[in-house]
Amino acid sequence: MIKIDGSFGEGGGQILRTSLALSLVTGKAFCIKNIRAGRKKPGLMRQHLTAVDASAIIGQAEIKGNYVGSPEITFIPKRVVPGHYHFAIGTAGSCTLVLQSVLPALLIADKYSELTLEGGTHNPYAPPFDFLSDAFIPIINQMGPEVKAILECPGFYPAGGGKFKVLIKPANSLRRLEIIERGEIIKKVAYAKVSKLPVNIAHRELKIIQEKLSLDNSCLKSEEIKNSIGPGNILTVQLNCEYITEVFSGFGEKGVSAEEVAIKTAKMVFEYLTSNVSVGKYLADQLLIPMAISGGGKFSTLTPTLHTLTNAEIIKKFLNIDINIAQYGEKEFLVHIDNK
Ligand code: AMP
Repeated sequence: MIKIDGSFGEGGGQILRTSLALSLVTGKAFCIKNIRAGRKKPGLMRQHLTAVDASAIIGQAEIKGNYVGSPEITFIPKRVVPGHYHFAIGTAGSCTLVLQSVLPALLIADKYSELTLEGGTHNPYAPPFDFLSDAFIPIINQMGPEVKAILECPGFYPAGGGKFKVLIKPANSLRRLEIIERGEIIKKVAYAKVSKLPVNIAHRELKIIQEKLSLDNSCLKSEEIKNSIGPGNILTVQLNCEYITEVFSGFGEKGVSAEEVAIKTAKMVFEYLTSNVSVGKYLADQLLIPMAISGGGKFSTLTPTLHTLTNAEIIKKFLNIDINIAQYGEKEFLVHIDNK
């Protein structure tokens, strides 16, 4: 039984999700203590509990400790069963984070799967749906599987009520990838979306983004979302480069002006553009699992976050793999994953 300390490193939900994901992939049982000990409200929240329960259903696992607030769980998987599944978080907790636990095993399962996830689809501190569909999934598809995400209804924090489907045609194994250069930037587009809020918020965000990133009018898209149950605002900047697409996001929140949201988002884009790396800081921690499963890979990225460093250590507990992170420029790093 692999023993995980949930207070290690970043101390958040990612340690749990990575453990679930790799337990399903390897068939190895684990127990985790001090779940999310580094967070204000430690233990399993609804979103994490949904990830645990969803993983248990898909992996026919025996579990102990799966209740809200639980500080520890034991997870003993039996067999991954691909198929049609529906998981509802019941709060605005992030559906894309629930997906992180179950997707890796389904990418290399022996049959097609279709997941319907309900909850939050556009949450701060989690991958927004747009990042999932336009940045993460295209890289997974380069590794062999055919994955498609379809947004049926956006759900913003705190109201939630969002829904999307993920269609997964698996591959026998994942192909090893090297993403060292991003190549030429082919297209830059900024999307500002509002739900049940004045559309003027979106226009103000786009005005700032246009100034900061010197974008043409044709690269600015605003949208009033009509089918979401609560208020929300997201600004995303999508950079389509020759070898990779990256998506940077900012979220509107009470007490933060549209201009501030746009300035913060532009800073993230700028940090990426003024480096010569291919992978942004969020994509970096999320690519470690698929690359480790594929037996290796390489990518260039910005200064690794504590999420990335923590994830690397958890992955090494399940897989016999080396993850080497070496600095090669002022803020440029090369992540090299290889079988031992
Ligand atoms: P945790 O804080 O442990 O729940 O993990 C958060 C996860 O969400 C990590 O995998 C981050 O890479 C991801 N994440 C957070 N913010 C963003 C963002 N703006 N875009 C994409 N991914 C994000």
